[in-house]
Amino acid sequence: MERLQKILAQAGVASRRKCEEMITAGLVEVNGVKVTELGAKADPAADVITVNGKRIKGEKKLYLMLNKPKGVITSATDPQGRKVVTDYLPGIKERVYPVGRLDYDTEGLLLLTNDGEFANLLTHPSHHVPKTYLATVKGIPHGSSLEKLQNGIELEDGMTAPAEVEYADVDTDKNQATISITIYEGRNRQVRRMFDAIKHPVLKLKRIRFGELPLAPLPRGKYRHLTEAEVKELR
Ligand code: URA
Repeated sequence: MERLQKILAQAGVASRRKCEEMITAGLVEVNGVKVTELGAKADPAADVITVNGKRIKGEKKLYLMLNKPKGVITSATDPQGRKVVTDYLPGIKERVYPVGRLDYDTEGLLLLTNDGEFANLLTHPSHHVPKTYLATVKGIPHGSSLEKLQNGIELEDGMTAPAEVEYADVDTDKNQATISITIYEGRNRQVRRMFDAIKHPVLKLKRIRFGELPLAPLPRGKYRHLTEAEVKELR
């Protein structure tokens, strides 16, 4: 049982404050009975809750950020029994789905949610959420090569959109460099293919930012709930 205003806010009706106003204004009914009292509780899974006569979805919405380790599949199940991202969500009983995907060998920031509308919005091609990766690559790319990535490069599925690209670290001893790259699309294996196109294959890939959300300081293999403000900002 949860307070009605919390259920309404979690269902995305409005802010908690606004939901309280709706309750006191007599717009909310539970199982056909008008409730105007702010302390009232209901069961979001079992009760029929309506606002202005319209039924709300009772399921509690979850928005999680996982620091995915490499060697884990971005999927809820794997027929081959390999590790999947939901193995890293102890205590989460709800069924949540990844928002987009990270390759098996890619680590870093992955969002998971049971809010299908939110997931669709963020993965829709017209919604250009910036995603920042640290790519450690073989060899040390020239500035002119990075400029190509920045301006857009031809891949087998067409030109990439402009990206932001800069050196994060150069290791001449190991002959490798770490490049920070922000892309506004989400094609399959896009970052790896972009670096393949400039002949500097990716050795290690980590997503460190999604929209305005940084991964730090979440430890590898751990998850946390997003705050309401973070969810709002991503929408
Ligand atoms: N680009 C890739 O190549 N791999 C990922 O996992 C994400 C972006």
